[in-house]
Amino acid sequence: MANQTSVIIENSLHNLLDDPAFLPNLQEEARIKAFHSLASILSTPNKIHKSFLRIPLDSGEVVRIPAFRTQHNDTLGPYKGGIRFHESVNEEEVVNLAALMTLKNALHEVPFGGGKGGVAINPRNYSARELYLICKKYVQYFSDILGPDKDIPAPDVGTGQREMDWMMAEYKSINPGKPYRGSFTGKSVINGGSLGRREATGKGVYLTFRYLIHDFISQNQQGLLVSSNAFAHTALGYANRPLTMAVQGFGNVGSVVALEAFSCKYLTNKVVAVSDRNITLFHSEGLNIPALITYANNHNGDLPTTLEGLSEAGVNARILGREDILYLNVDVLVLAALEDQIRIDNVDRIQARIIVEGANAPVSGEADQIMQNKGSIVIPDILANAGGVIVSYFEWMQGRETQFYTEDQVFQLLQAKMQATMDAVYPSYFESARSLRQICYNHAVMKLSTNLYIQGKLY
Ligand code: GLU
Repeated sequence: MANQTSVIIENSLHNLLDDPAFLPNLQEEARIKAFHSLASILSTPNKIHKSFLRIPLDSGEVVRIPAFRTQHNDTLGPYKGGIRFHESVNEEEVVNLAALMTLKNALHEVPFGGGKGGVAINPRNYSARELYLICKKYVQYFSDILGPDKDIPAPDVGTGQREMDWMMAEYKSINPGKPYRGSFTGKSVINGGSLGRREATGKGVYLTFRYLIHDFISQNQQGLLVSSNAFAHTALGYANRPLTMAVQGFGNVGSVVALEAFSCKYLTNKVVAVSDRNITLFHSEGLNIPALITYANNHNGDLPTTLEGLSEAGVNARILGREDILYLNVDVLVLAALEDQIRIDNVDRIQARIIVEGANAPVSGEADQIMQNKGSIVIPDILANAGGVIVSYFEWMQGRETQFYTEDQVFQLLQAKMQATMDAVYPSYFESARSLRQICYNHAVMKLSTNLYIQGKLY
C-alpha cells in the first residue's frame, strides 16, 4: 500500500492509544498487542485478485489486458468500491484506493468495507463493442468474488452507468435466479440505479467546503475567534466574503462541483478557472459553467481548446496550459482529476489556501504536511468525495426494497449523512493542531478498531 495511507493509519492508532474510548476494556499490555494487530490488519488488504482479460479487438487482434480487484477490509460490511479504467492502473494503486474506501465508509458510517478494481486501458482508445467485451470478461473472471453481499463495484475514473449496466447484466446471467440488483451500483436509473447518483460525488464535495467555510464558521464564530488554532484562523479569513475557485477536472465530479459553486445562492463564489486533460480555461470575472457543460456534453466530455471552440460555447476565457490551473491565485482549489497532483516538487507554487480533494489521493503525503504547516486547509478525499459511495449505499438499499426515492429525498439523505460526519470531525479539527485528514482517519480507525475487537479479530 502507498505508505502515505499506512503512515496516517499508524498515526491514528498512536493518537487513539491516548484516547480512553479506544478499546476501554483492555489492560495496557493487551491494548499494545491490539495496536500492533490493528496496524497490520489495516495496512494490508485481505485479498488481491488479478488476471489478464483476453479480448478480441475489432481489428481481429487478440490482446491480454491486466485487470485487478482488491478487497481491503470487510469488517463493516461487504467490500465496496469502484472499478477504474485508466492506463496507469496497477496493483499498488488499486490496493491503496481500496484502503481509502474502507476508511471512507467507516468515517461516514456506511455499512460497507473497502474494495477497488481497475483495468489498465485508456477507454478512449476502445470501441463500444470492445469496452462491452472488457466489462463482460471482467465480471466473468471475478464472478466468484463479486455479489450483493460480497463485493459491490461502482463507477470510478473512466467508467460510468453504461459499464455498470453491462456488468450487472453479465452478473445476472452468470447467477440465474439469484438477487442481482445490489451487485453493482451507479447503474442507469432505468436499470435500477438511484436518482442523483451521478451528481452525488460533486454535490458532496461542494457541501463539505460550503459547510466548513460558511455554516460551521457562522455557527461557531465566537469560539473560533478566540481560538489559537491556525486552521480556525485561516477559515475565519475566508468566511462571509466572496471567494474565487478553480476546479481541476471537468468530468462527473469537477463539472458538478463547478455548477454547484456557480449556482449556490447564498455564497458568492466565482469559478474563475476549470481544466480538463487538455487545457485550463480562466476568466477573472468567472466562467459560464452551464455553457461549458453543454459544450463538453456535445464534444466527448472535452472543454473548448481553441478560440473557435470558445465562441461556439459562447464563453469568454483565456486558454492556459493543463497544469496551470494548480498555480492560479485563487482562494479555493478543488482537485477533481487524478491522484498525485500536488507533490513535494510543486507544492510551493500552490497559492490557494483551501484545497478540496474531489479525487482520491490528489495530494502526496509530504505536500500535505507542508500545506498543513502553513495553516492551509485541506479537506481530505475520504471526507469530501464520499457522496458517491453514500448514494451507492442508497441505491443498494433501494434495490433490496424495490422501492425508490425521489431525487430530492436522495439529496436530503445525502446531506444529512455528510453533515453528521462533518459535525463529528470539524469541532476536533479546530480544537487540535492535527490536519483534517488525520482527524478523519482517527474517526474511521476508531470505528474499525472497535468493530474488529467486538468481532474477536484482535486475538
Ligand atoms: N468510485 C467512487 C469512490 O471512490 C464510488 C465508489 C462506490 O460508489 O462504491 O468513492
